[in-house]
Amino acid sequence: MFKPELLAPAGNPEKLRMALQYGADAVYLGGKDFSLRAFSGNFSLEEIEAATLFAHSLQKKVYVTVNIFPHNEDLVHLPKYIASLRDIGIDALIIADLGVFRIARAVAPDIPLHISTQANNTNWASVLFWQEIGAQRVVLARELSLEEMKLIRAKTSLELEVFVHGAMCISYSGRCLLSNYLTGRDANRGECTQPCRWKYSLMEETRPNVYLPVHEDERGTYIFNSKDLCLLEHIPELTEAGVNSFKIEGRMKSVYYAAVVVKAYREAIDRYCDDPSNYTLHPKWREELNKISHREYTQGFYCKKTGPEDQIYGSSSYIQPYDFVGLVKGYDHQTKMALVEQRNRFMVGDEVEIVQPGKDFSCQRITEIINEAGEKVESAPHPQQLVRIPVDEEVVEFAMLRRKGVADAE
Ligand code: SF4
Repeated sequence: MFKPELLAPAGNPEKLRMALQYGADAVYLGGKDFSLRAFSGNFSLEEIEAATLFAHSLQKKVYVTVNIFPHNEDLVHLPKYIASLRDIGIDALIIADLGVFRIARAVAPDIPLHISTQANNTNWASVLFWQEIGAQRVVLARELSLEEMKLIRAKTSLELEVFVHGAMCISYSGRCLLSNYLTGRDANRGECTQPCRWKYSLMEETRPNVYLPVHEDERGTYIFNSKDLCLLEHIPELTEAGVNSFKIEGRMKSVYYAAVVVKAYREAIDRYCDDPSNYTLHPKWREELNKISHREYTQGFYCKKTGPEDQIYGSSSYIQPYDFVGLVKGYDHQTKMALVEQRNRFMVGDEVEIVQPGKDFSCQRITEIINEAGEKVESAPHPQQLVRIPVDEEVVEFAMLRRKGVADAE
């Protein structure tokens, strides 16, 4: 049967590699060369080229976002940028603006064009319009129900991409200036710092540092603090509805987030598509999604319009039950030692879970840590420090070590 694409965010080259290694069919990323305010996490043209070569070596795809709403001056360098992406051989451009569409068609007529969720396509007529002018795919607005998606599918034939997992946005996917105004990071370029969720107080000009409370209710005020989207349990219905691509949100999230979310959806999609009639949702996939930094989950608009039950009023913090402590860089079969890059401090005696592509996680206690000088040490305290630890079971490069954490907040 037709298997939908699993599309993952790639905020930087490492996240890209992790997403692809853990099972994404394609990744989407932003370039820093066509950005008024270059964001450090984005990709240079050289990095896009390397990323595309790497993805293609795995028979996977790279989509590049050019989904800003440009003013005239932004258009000056746009044709050259799109020509560079064409020469690199990226697999699609993600755009939101008709002017960008026109320029892309002229400069790179062979690059498929995906219409960004920021174009806010909420009905079949607008999707049909994009189809008629030559788009290959539309990323549907997150504000649609399954029934609305089905009607769009029935009336159009271009590819449909749907968000299945990640943060929700209260403003039709980034059409909001809060983050840009307060932090200089633009939601329109995938960099939103989500100030709609911050806890706000009122301050009177002549009384600095006196915070007067603003009460939404007795628990405080988190103006638009939506739960996170999770449609894991609806993979069968979305597949049957003819959705072509399942998209994961979160270019700014960690490599651990990218890998774990991709792994859970990869296994569920494969299991369903390989044997739809005997498919059941395995609890371990949902448990994995509970082991990343997340908010409570909601199904968003999938079944109904959202209500107060889809918002969080108690706290704007993330739930973070596990710490990502190390990334495996290699494994020596003879000594059964793994080379691990530290990502959070860990110590001899720590119980860790080892997560790797295509396998269930395994548990073990860290019995020994050897530093780069070959000395036995009690802990790995430094970020990016390389150490060796004994691991009985063979582990692959890109395996991750995580430890049950105590902190709940990010
Ligand atoms: S601040 Fe909130 S509402 Fe505004 S773009 Fe970001 S997530 Fe959306």
